[in-house]
Amino acid sequence: MEKAKLFINGEPNSVANTFAVVNPASAEIFAEAPACDESHVNRAIEGAAAAFYAWRKDITQRRNVLNKMAELIRDNSEVIALLLTQEQGKPLKQARSEVMTSVMQIQWAASTEIPQEVLQDNHQGLIKLIRKPYGVVVAIVPWNYPVSIAMGKVATALIAGNTVVLKPSPYTPMATLKIAEVTRGIFPAGVFNTLSGSDSLGAQLTQHALVRKIDFTGSVNTGKKVAAVAASDLKRVTLELGGNDPAIILPDANPKKIAKALFWGAFSNSGQVCVAIKRVYVHESIHESLLQELAALANVTPVGNGLDDNTRLGPINNRAQFERVSSLVSAAKQQGARVVAGGSALNQGYCFQPTILSDLRDDEAVVTQEQFGPVLPVLSYCDLDDAINRANASHFGLGSSVWSDNAEQATVIAEQLEAGTTWVNQHLVLSPIAPFGGSKCSGLGAINGKWGLEGATQMQVINVAGD
Ligand code: NAD
Repeated sequence: MEKAKLFINGEPNSVANTFAVVNPASAEIFAEAPACDESHVNRAIEGAAAAFYAWRKDITQRRNVLNKMAELIRDNSEVIALLLTQEQGKPLKQARSEVMTSVMQIQWAASTEIPQEVLQDNHQGLIKLIRKPYGVVVAIVPWNYPVSIAMGKVATALIAGNTVVLKPSPYTPMATLKIAEVTRGIFPAGVFNTLSGSDSLGAQLTQHALVRKIDFTGSVNTGKKVAAVAASDLKRVTLELGGNDPAIILPDANPKKIAKALFWGAFSNSGQVCVAIKRVYVHESIHESLLQELAALANVTPVGNGLDDNTRLGPINNRAQFERVSSLVSAAKQQGARVVAGGSALNQGYCFQPTILSDLRDDEAVVTQEQFGPVLPVLSYCDLDDAINRANASHFGLGSSVWSDNAEQATVIAEQLEAGTTWVNQHLVLSPIAPFGGSKCSGLGAINGKWGLEGATQMQVINVAGD
């Protein structure tokens, strides 16, 4: 049994209790993680607060430490990726690529300049805008991309001069705790702490008076709770929340040509991507042919244990989510949905067949809710304005896409969709130079590029008298 260690302020820490971590490919426990409590929260946050004033001073030191961190993660990438596949379920190749993405995120952060702007420099005086760290940042992470989401938050907060307390999801703490273990020697005490535990540990972290910023990724419901707690003493928040991304397929699109990109836009990471395609609206003239193309892909995509070489789709991450996805599919079937591919669980852990559903009403739960699993409802439309309205009729607003042979026409439609990002003839393609965030209930603030750095810092105006 794999047992994770806990370090706070760079020192090994004992914990009275542990919790079980389940491998979703077998539904069996494979590891134990420390169940941190309020005493660990206090130690970690007080340590991070004490470390802040020295850490914020020297960006060269921060760059060096982050580059070293990236190096250590790369050196240990195989063991981290193996833990990631075992706890999350994703195929090992994808786990490796997630770990290497994190190495790049940290290196990118290490090379970032903190922007300064001169707003005025004349006889009236000098007005300069600088950006400064908040202090202690709490970073809270979900289970779908545990490593890359965590490292994106940590690297951005640290380069800006903040200190960090990181909390992974209770379903996926192991790879993150391994990163904490292998990198602990390079940080001044208190600068970077990782605590594992239940949802209530997350709540305790957000409530602590010394925390000045919460960087949260997770569901809309939890995001609202985090925002409510933060409001009581005006902690700053970045909220990266759920999505129910629509893809609109115009009548001139070629189903054969777009099916593969649509399929992987929906089913990557077994559909457990905030910004996956979660509803398709296709023109009625090509509805049937698109269904057949998508079904053909679903029928030949190997699902199973992420440690098997030929697996392309791993299991659903945890029992609660597996049961949720199963019940959404059962409910849709009961309402008369047509199962074009898949439709059931496999007899292996939390594996579920990639499922394509059609003949659904817009108000069915699998259409209105974020399914966050390998299930795709494909709805038809005859009037484009109606399709746009149906796509926008959601409290989510994370991503969306428009597919057509005419990219220019599709771009005009893209601008009518309510989302943080709208793609044309692709989906799920993130760029480090573009801000990523949600509109409506899908989030507040953004990550990536200068926008991410702005989220990790506060403004200060320096106003010097003139002649
Ligand atoms: P979740 O909201 O249940 O949990 C996320 C994290 O919050 C976990 O670490 C959890 O322990 C912690 N938590 C739970 N209750 C808390 C509380 N009251 N206070 C503070 N922390 C608390 O989400 P999940 O099921 O782990 O993740 C799936 C969701 O995350 C989906 O909705 C998905 O779309 C979303 N997500 C969004 C993005 C994005 O960038 N927008 C990226 C990935 C996932």
